[in-house]
Amino acid sequence: MGRTAKCFVCGSKAVAYVPYLGEYLCKEHFIEYFERRVYETLRSFKLVAPGDRVAVAVSGGKDSLTTLYLLRKFSGRMGFEVFGVAVDEGIAGYREYKLQALSALAEELGVRIYVGRFEDYFGITLDEAVKRLKEKGMEYKPCSVCGVFRRYIINKLARELGATKLATGHNLDDEVQVFVMNALKAHMEGIEREGIASATVGEGLVPRIKPLYFITEKEVLTYTLLRGIHTPFVECPYIVYALRHPIRRWINAVEDEAPGFKYRILAVKELSRKKLPEAPEGAQKCRVCGEPSSKPVCKACLFRAYLDPGFAGRVERLKLISGSRD
Ligand SMILES: [Zn+2]
Ligand SMILES: [Zn+2]
Repeated sequence: MGRTAKCFVCGSKAVAYVPYLGEYLCKEHFIEYFERRVYETLRSFKLVAPGDRVAVAVSGGKDSLTTLYLLRKFSGRMGFEVFGVAVDEGIAGYREYKLQALSALAEELGVRIYVGRFEDYFGITLDEAVKRLKEKGMEYKPCSVCGVFRRYIINKLARELGATKLATGHNLDDEVQVFVMNALKAHMEGIEREGIASATVGEGLVPRIKPLYFITEKEVLTYTLLRGIHTPFVECPYIVYALRHPIRRWINAVEDEAPGFKYRILAVKELSRKKLPEAPEGAQKCRVCGEPSSKPVCKACLFRAYLDPGFAGRVERLKLISGSRD
């Protein structure tokens, strides 16, 4: 941004360039633009309705804190309730700091946060799970196990607390990265599933919504800095194992040279989703734990069995009883 950049609305000192508008904005007008964009997303895509009980999946990172902050802000005007659901995976030197940032903001906003721990649900922390994955030759990435376990807890916890919607902090960059990864694997079901709101929802699955769907990662960062929403700069120690990282660098590099690239990928994503058949999600119940699943045994139970021989025995017996070997 040039030193002389001025807000295109009021002419005062600009703090950010907004690619969507193709204009610079000052602090006041950036905040106004940002909040209006999220508000309009909620309204025009009917992501929330009066009387909704919205659970926000909060990790303590900037995206989820911003989602919590804004949903709390709009909850009165739009007539819905808000609370937070968080997961403690058991990642030493990381999770405790993020949870601290989360409880500080929650207290300020007067929002209740409920925390589900890997250890309580699966009898194992992520740190322990990664040790076992390493012993087994890293056949599965920590992020795969963690993602499955996290989604499982968040959905179960939100549902048990009576949530009618589950809001996540996924921003435009996340959506574009996941789309590219799914496209590279020709994972069409994943592409169909990852919309602004969940398509068809099976029994026991809380419908998911993504209020930051059209907001770039950089805009979220600017907003949190301007609003004073704090989160410690600690990164998950297992991020090195994620394929997401190089994909993200690649997309950002192309965006730098050809501004608007991310919006074009998002447009392609929306077009391809329209052409896909709806993928029913959680159409059946897991035979082991009873949670919604697309297969007879859910992914969380399969990973748990993979990591824990005792649990594997239980899964095997249950499958024999129900007469299924799949
Ligand atoms: Zn201005
Ligand atoms: Zn299960």
